[in-house]
This record gives sequence, C-alpha cells and structure tokens, in this order.
Amino acid sequence: MKCPHCLVEFHANAEWLHLGEDKEGDWAIEKYPCPNPDCGKFIIYLVQGDAVYSQPPGGGRYFKHIRPANKRLLVRPKGSNRPPVPPEVPPDFTDDYTGACLVLPDSPKASAALSRRCLQHILREKAGVKPSSLADEIQEALDRNLFPSYIAEVVDAIRNIGNFAAHPTKSKQTGEIIDVEPGEAELNLDVVEALFDFYFVNPALIAKKKAAINQKLQDAGKPPMK
Ligand SMILES: [Zn+2]
Repeated sequence: MKCPHCLVEFHANAEWLHLGEDKEGDWAIEKYPCPNPDCGKFIIYLVQGDAVYSQPPGGGRYFKHIRPANKRLLVRPKGSNRPPVPPEVPPDFTDDYTGACLVLPDSPKASAALSRRCLQHILREKAGVKPSSLADEIQEALDRNLFPSYIAEVVDAIRNIGNFAAHPTKSKQTGEIIDVEPGEAELNLDVVEALFDFYFVNPALIAKKKAAINQKLQDAGKPPMK
C-alpha cells in the first residue's frame, strides 16, 4: 500500500484493535505504522463489519480482524479516499483541492464549490484563459485546443453534468455553495486531478527522463538533445 502521509509504497500487516460489537456489527481499529523513517506516522482506519476470530487448540478465541468490512473510514490522516496531491503540484493550487477532497463525504456541494474554484484557478494560471465565467473559460480552453482529447472531454463534461445552463451562479461565482447534481463533485475532482497530471506531474516526469538521456549522451561524448 501507499502511505497517505508520505506517498511511499510499503508492505506491512495491519495491527488490529477490537472495539466491540454494537447493533450494526463489530468495530475495530486497523493500524499501520509507516516504515519510512522520514515519515514514521500511523495510518489508522476505523472499520465496521464481521469479526473474524482465531481459535487456538488450547481453547478460547482471539480477535483477528474484520472481514468483510462494511465501512472503512480513514481516520489518520484525515482525508477522503481520493489520491493525495502529487508533490509536483505547487501549494497555491493544492489548497482548494485538498479542502474539496476532505469535505466530499460530508458535503458534496461544499466540495464542488472548492473544486470549481480550483479548476478556474488552473485554467487562468496555467491555460492562460481570459478571466470570465467558468463556462466561457472552459469554452475558450476547448476552442484553443489546449488539451489532449481525453482531458478535453472531461473538462467539457463539467458544464454538462453541473447543468451550468440552469445554474449560472456555478459558472459566475465558482466558490459559491449551491446544490450539485449526482456525481458532479466527484467529476470535478477527477478533472482537477487530470489537469494536475497534465500541467505538473507529466512535465516533471518528462524533464527527468530528458535529463537522464542527456546525461547518457554526455557520457558518450555526444551533444545533448534539444
Ligand atoms: Zn509514510
């Protein structure tokens, strides 16, 4: 699994702590200590479902874990089940996104307000669209063919699924908290993540690969690539 604090991949068995049983079923804490020495934080889930016990030959029974889980809530770090922000994304783009992820389970409309504002910020700062309503900014970005087709399609879907035509406030005051359509808040986050990849993660990856190739060319006494 990937540690949601530091994003380092690790393999570890969960430590379980049984809390007991209530009307809905068994509850337990599922805990992983992150083995990365720079991190070293606990990853903690609150889990509800069916308790599984081991029954040693000597008698008695010991709680092992909960399986299957009906509910598995990430308690530490507090967050959603969305992927964490890639480290390549500069902080002034991550605040609204992180907030949108955090409030998603409790309030999709608050989440959508934050993700619309985040999207608008990316379009203005990175795509260089003329500040206008979000719908017009999306239109400008699409007209100028700024995105590969898979991103253009999902960006366009924001206006459709959000029914911008019927709710002009969404487009004019992006941070306003107003009702959302089913799936809208999640789609907004999907689109922001796709744009993070497009503008920050992929270029960093390409730059890294290019540097590695140039190093090899240099070692071989050849001129670097352009
Ligand atoms: Zn960690």
